Amino acid sequence: MMKSLPALTALAAVSLFAGCYQVPVTGRHALSLVDDREVTKMSIATFDEMKAHTKISNDKARNEQLQRVGERIQHAVPIWDMPDADWEFVVFDSPDINAFAMAGGKVGVFMGLFKIVENDDQLASVIGHEIGHVTAKHVHENLSQQLAMQTGGMIGGIAMLGTGAGLLGTEAVMSAYGLGAQGMGAAFDRKKEKEADHIGLMYMAHAGYDPEEAIKVLEKLEEETGQQAASQSSFTSTHPSNPERIQQLRDLMPQAIKAREQSGLAPPPPVIMK
Ligand SMILES: [Zn+2]
Repeated sequence: MMKSLPALTALAAVSLFAGCYQVPVTGRHALSLVDDREVTKMSIATFDEMKAHTKISNDKARNEQLQRVGERIQHAVPIWDMPDADWEFVVFDSPDINAFAMAGGKVGVFMGLFKIVENDDQLASVIGHEIGHVTAKHVHENLSQQLAMQTGGMIGGIAMLGTGAGLLGTEAVMSAYGLGAQGMGAAFDRKKEKEADHIGLMYMAHAGYDPEEAIKVLEKLEEETGQQAASQSSFTSTHPSNPERIQQLRDLMPQAIKAREQSGLAPPPPVIMK
């Protein structure tokens, strides 16, 4: 079918002004209407606000574990996947079973997550998944949608490019990350969850962690979902688990095991903290 000229022009304008990008690991082509630097700036501001308003855990063992795993994971994330990363890993003293990563290399883990995570490999799989959401620019996609809505459709949004993302407040940023105050809505659809799983699996494998442990985490989340009310704010509501995701991990496992072997990194210390 022929496209009308104005439609083509608009399309060209979107492609020209907005960033076309390729998702790492999966190679999917996607489109972002928000400026990377703006998203990073807003994300860092939001992270700083969280640090100011949410109690930071002083659990020494958990903090050490997160720093240890974070150190390895960050070196497994290619610099071009997150060129502006100034890595920071913080344990928040909250019972939520949740974790998140933000543009700029900011990673938060809630104490509740350690009810599920039993070892470094499992923590690496969660962090890898969260970083995957960022390097795949899922948050950029969410923010682009919010911006488009705010500015009356995608075409109107083009005029706002560059500085447009600045129009979105902390709340919009939080919700794009699935961290809204009004209970956590699902920030990412199933396709994005699977993509983050794929990317995270490869990151953890490149960091020398056992990729099989990623399946165990998903299985435990499944159990947890059954035990918790659906309305409760937790990792399980923002990260719907399902057999499809587990199956995908199984399919990718040979590739991940190979990546781990090629990393040449020793397995992490067998720390079981339960
Ligand atoms: Zn996710």
